[in-house]
Amino acid sequence: ATIARQSLKIGLIPADGIGKEVIPTAKAAIEALGSDIPKPEFIDLLAGFEHFAKNGIALPDETVNILKNECDCALFGSVSSPSRKVVGYSSPIVALRKQLDLYANIRPVTSVAANPGEKPNVDLVVVRENTECLYVKQENLIIGEHGKEARATRLITERASRRIGQMAFEIAQARPRKHLTVIHKSNVLSVTDGLFRETVRGVPSLPDVGGRFDGVTIAEQLVDSAVYRLFREPQIYDVMVAPNLYGDILSDAAAALVGSLGLVPSINAGDNFVMGEPVHGSAPDIAGQSIANPLASIRSAALMLRHLGYSKGADRLDKAVDEVIREGKVLTPDLGGKAKTGEVLDEVLRRI
Ligand code: ATP
Ligand code: MG
Repeated sequence: ATIARQSLKIGLIPADGIGKEVIPTAKAAIEALGSDIPKPEFIDLLAGFEHFAKNGIALPDETVNILKNECDCALFGSVSSPSRKVVGYSSPIVALRKQLDLYANIRPVTSVAANPGEKPNVDLVVVRENTECLYVKQENLIIGEHGKEARATRLITERASRRIGQMAFEIAQARPRKHLTVIHKSNVLSVTDGLFRETVRGVPSLPDVGGRFDGVTIAEQLVDSAVYRLFREPQIYDVMVAPNLYGDILSDAAAALVGSLGLVPSINAGDNFVMGEPVHGSAPDIAGQSIANPLASIRSAALMLRHLGYSKGADRLDKAVDEVIREGKVLTPDLGGKAKTGEVLDEVLRRI
């Protein structure tokens, strides 16, 4: 009898700027895995600020429908964010995270040890809540007694804090050190951050958890001192869980510790869908020059595959990327090299 081998349908949303240059490299890396994963089928999908500028729409319904109804997973590039408010435009990545209920943004930041077997100096995962906090984007501007007054709403719910907390405990539980740090600022924002902190800390005693997280040690830190300690002694961190905005800032900061934003991957994960996404943005300063570092995107593909259970394929991608970095001969300019995006990709493909 023949074994019916299922395929893996992957939506590709390069969107803007260097997203268009790096997402094709992730596609090529996945294709190179051959039979380690089900046969990949790619579906090209539109979204982004450039699409909005041309067609008046940042996230076409068709893109969302195809992701929901046909795809097993997706890879997203990056969107340009206009620095001033543009009427009718809102970020498609924020909308996608909401519409697909991708409530966790998981960002591992790891330095590559100079010698195989040596412990990396930085080896942490930022688990960022992905659906609320200031990203609910309820802002208003009024003219008060002394001029303009702008306000923003910051939403923290018990439900979202609980599920991100659970995800963070799961991740910590699966790592050798099993250590979780809750990041907050509840000395100032005692109601919102207080709720986040208490809810996350309460996860191990939820009725359906049993003793599953007994092995996880938990600590907490104010976000400002967390940034300080991240730079002074990054090795104290294993898994960090944070509300949306702090998580965003912390993971960009952590990226600086490992050399370049161009190395740091992420996935947006929900209970039913996963979308890989490099942590960097559209990098307008280097877009179109074929010098964007493709490694964050290739690592995002690896994370996505790992999340779906294809750890063998994921390991091959990660190993190839680590070797290219460690060897240090073919690197893009952000890492001090002279290579083009395509040359780095070729090095990775050769090793896969
Ligand atoms: P956006 O508003 O889309 O986030 P940005 O101006 O903040 O755009 P980022 O993409 O966040 O730009 O990048 C910040 C800096 O890091 C830029 O100087 C950019 O060139 C650099 N950078 C980001 N990603 C990469 C990459 N993959 N390869 C090389 N350099 C990168
Ligand atoms: Mg940016």
